[in-house]
Amino acid sequence: MTGTLYLVATPIGNLADISLRAIETLKAVDVIACEDTRHSRKLLNHYGISKKLISYHKRNERERSAELIERIRAGELVAVISDAGTPGINDPGYVLVSEAVAAGLPVVAVPGPAAFVTAAVVSGLPTASIFFGGFLPSRKGERRRRLEQVRGIPATLVFYESPHRLAASLADCLEILGDRMAAVARELTKLHEEISRGTLAELSKRFAAANVKGELILVIDRASGEKMLVESAETLGERVQQLESGGMDRKAALKAAAKEFGLSRSEAYRRLQNV
Ligand code: SAM
Repeated sequence: MTGTLYLVATPIGNLADISLRAIETLKAVDVIACEDTRHSRKLLNHYGISKKLISYHKRNERERSAELIERIRAGELVAVISDAGTPGINDPGYVLVSEAVAAGLPVVAVPGPAAFVTAAVVSGLPTASIFFGGFLPSRKGERRRRLEQVRGIPATLVFYESPHRLAASLADCLEILGDRMAAVARELTKLHEEISRGTLAELSKRFAAANVKGELILVIDRASGEKMLVESAETLGERVQQLESGGMDRKAALKAAAKEFGLSRSEAYRRLQNV
C-alpha cells in the first residue's frame, strides 16, 4: 500500500493557531519534512510531538523530493511543514506536491494559517477578489515592471515585503499604481501586531524614515474603474484582455469593459470585431 503526503499548515506567530487535525496528523505520520529542523523541533515540542525530522528547504528541494517520494511509494506517511504558515506558499512544497501528483500518490492538505489571507481580511479592503503576488522583486527596476504588470488587475493586491524595503516599495507603488487605499500588516498574530491603514501617499510618508522591524505584508486596493481606464487601458480591447488575465471569462470581461466604456454589449462586440 502506498503512503500519503500531508501538507500541514502551522502558526504564523501565535502558537495557539494550529488545528486539532494538524496536531493529530503530525502525531500520526512517520516523518516530518521541514525547512529548519531546529526551528520546527521547538514548535513540535510545544505540542508534545516527537518525530523523525528531515530537512527540506529551498536548496535541497529537488533531491529531497525524490527521497520523500520513495518513502511515500514504500507506504510511509510524510508530512511537510514550513517555518510558518502554509507549506508551498512562498515556502518549499510545490516541487514535492507536483512530483507526488505526477507519480499518482495521494496528497492531502491540512489547512491553517496563511499570512496573505490573514493580512487581506484584516486590511479592511475588498476581499471578493484577491491577487496574491508573493514577494515584490527586490531590484527597483524589476519591482516597477512587476507593478506595471499588476496595475490593471481588478482585485485587491497582496505582496509579502521585507521591512528594509518597505519605504522604497511604497514609493514605487504610489508612483506606478496611483494613490490607492492600502494597509501594511505587521507581525500578524504576534505580540506587536500592527495594521497601518491609509492611502499609499499617507503610508509612504509614514514609513519613509521609520525604522521598521518584523514581518510584514502590503495590501493595496484595486484601481477604481475610472482610474484604470485612464491609467492603464487605452482601448476597449486592452481592457477586455486585462479583465481576462485577471481571471474573468471572455463574455464577462466584455460585459464589464463595455459598461466601463459606456457602451452596450453589442456595440462593444462590434468594435472589437472591427479592430
Ligand atoms: N508560508 C508562509 C505563509 O503561509 O504565509 C509565508 C512564508 S514567506 C517565506 C514569509 C513572509 O510571509 C514574510 O516575509 C512576511 O512577508 C509574511 N509573513 C509571514 N508571517 C507573517 C506575520 N506573522 N505577519 C506579517 N507577515 C508575515
